[in-house]
Amino acid sequence: MFEGVVPVHLYTVAILLGLRSLPKDFDFIVIGAGSGGVRAARVAALQGARVAIIERGPLGGTCVNLGCIPKKLFVYGAHLADELEDASAFGWNISGAGFDWPVLRNNTANEIKRLNEIYRKLLESAGATIFHGSARLLDAHRVEVGEKRFTVERILIATGSRPFVPNWPGRELAITSDDAFSLDRLPKRALVVGGGYIAVEFAGIFHGLGVETQLLYRGPMFLRGFDDGIRRFVAEHFQTKGITLKLNDTPRRIERNGKGVRVHTESGARIDTDLVLVATGRVPNTQGLGLEDAGVELGPRGEIRVQSNYQSSVANIFAIGDVIGRVQLTPVAIAEGAWLSQHLFGPGSGSAGTSESPLNYDLIPTAVFSQPPIGSVGLTEDQALAANGGAVDVYESEFRPLKYVLTGNSERAYMKLLVSRRDDRVLGVQMAGADAGEIIQGFAAALTAGATKAQFDATMAIHPTSAEEFVTMSTASRTLEAAE
Ligand code: NDP
Repeated sequence: MFEGVVPVHLYTVAILLGLRSLPKDFDFIVIGAGSGGVRAARVAALQGARVAIIERGPLGGTCVNLGCIPKKLFVYGAHLADELEDASAFGWNISGAGFDWPVLRNNTANEIKRLNEIYRKLLESAGATIFHGSARLLDAHRVEVGEKRFTVERILIATGSRPFVPNWPGRELAITSDDAFSLDRLPKRALVVGGGYIAVEFAGIFHGLGVETQLLYRGPMFLRGFDDGIRRFVAEHFQTKGITLKLNDTPRRIERNGKGVRVHTESGARIDTDLVLVATGRVPNTQGLGLEDAGVELGPRGEIRVQSNYQSSVANIFAIGDVIGRVQLTPVAIAEGAWLSQHLFGPGSGSAGTSESPLNYDLIPTAVFSQPPIGSVGLTEDQALAANGGAVDVYESEFRPLKYVLTGNSERAYMKLLVSRRDDRVLGVQMAGADAGEIIQGFAAALTAGATKAQFDATMAIHPTSAEEFVTMSTASRTLEAAE
C-alpha cells in the first residue's frame, strides 16, 4: 500500500498530538481530470506545487470523451449531408455517396484516444502525478484512491456533472448523450427529449445522418434563455429541414414496443420510435466523494457551494466547473481552474483564500451547434430591455448566405445587434446561421472591450462574408422602450 512521504498512521498520530504542520504527501490533489481539473493541476504543477490528479474515467472528462469533441465531430459529419447535396450546383458529381456510421463512430473514438494521450503527456510534463480510480475524502486533509491514501494541503473537486433523467417509468429504455457516441447502429427513427443544448444539437446530428428525428420539449419553444428571435428562426429551420417538433408535451412513461420503443406523453399522445435520447440537463457529480466526511456543504441540486474564490465551506477544499452548478461550459471551467491555481500557487499567493475571481460571468459567449448553428454573446432582446433601463435599438438582418445561392439549400442566416440608446454600447450580438460560433467568438472580444455601435460602424468589413453584416447594419429595425 502506498503511504506517501509520511505514512498515514503517523499523520493520524501527529494530528492527535496536535502536530498539524507535518509535511503532507501533496500540496494539491485535484479530483477529476476533465477540462477544469487538468488545467488547474497543470498550472499548479508548473508553479512548483506537488500535485496529484485522480480520475476514474479516461483523461479529459466529459468534454473530450462524451461531449464537446465527439459531438462537434458528429456535427461536422451530419452537416456533410447538406454539403454533398449542395455540391452538384458547384459542378461536382458525387452520385453514389452513402453514409457508414461505424466509420464516423470509430474514427471519432480513435481521435478521443489520441486526445486522452495528449492530456496524459500534458499532465506528466507539467510534473503532476496521475492516479486512476475513484477518489474519496477521508477528511479535509486525507484522500483515498483504491488502496492508496494521501495527505494533502489543498484539495480541488472538479468532478463535473452527469446526465439527469426524470423519474419516468421505463426511463431505463432511453439513452443519454453518454451512450449516443457508441451506438452499435444508427436507429431508423429517434425521439430526442428536452429543449436545451444537447437535445437541439443531437436532433440536428441524427437528422443530418439520415435518422427520422422528432424533438419533444415540455415548453412552447426550445432553448429557453436564448434570444426569442433566434429560437423562432432555428425552429422554423428545423421544420423546413424535416425535424418534427413536438412542443408543450413531455413523456409520462416509456415502454418497449416490439423491437422499438413507445413513449406515452402527458397530453395522451403515443410516439413510436426506435431510440429515445433524453437530454434534460445535467447534475453535479458529488456523490461518493466523502464530501460529508470532510464537512463540505452542498446546495439543493447537490452542487458544491463555493464563494467567489471557489473556496467551499471547508477552507482548504475548493471546487470549480460543472460541480459548482454555475455555468456548465468547458471554457468557464478552464478559466476557473487556471485562475484558482495561479491564485493559490502563483507569485504572491500568500493572500490565498481572500481574493475574488475576476471572471466575468455576464459576458460568456456560447454556441449551440444546431443546424443552423447559434452564436450568442451578451444580452438577448428581453434581457437588454430589462437591464439597460432605457431604450434599446435592435438591428437585424436576415439573408441567404452566398454559399447557398447556387444551390437549392434554403438555409438562411439571421443576425441581431442590441444597442443601448443611452451610451451606444453594444449589449448583445446574436446569430443563427452558418459559422455562427466562429463569428461570435470574435465579437465576444469586442463586447468584452466595451465596444459601441459607432466602433462597430467604424470597423472595416471583410467582403464577401456573412460576418460583415455585423459591421454594416446602419438602420435600427426596431426600438424597444422600457416600460415606465
Ligand atoms: P440544458 O440545461 O441546456 O437543457 C435542459 C433541457 O431539459 C431544458 O430544455 C429543460 O426544459 C429540459 N428539462 C429539464 N428538466 C426536465 C424535466 N423534468 N422534464 C422535461 N424536460 C426537462 O441541459 P442539456 O442536458 O441540454 O445540457 C447540459 C449542459 O451542458 C448545458 O446547460 C450546457 O451548459 C452544456 N452543453 C453545452 C454545449 C455547448 O456549449 N455547445 C453543448 C452541450 C451541452 P426547460 O427549459 O423548460 O427548463
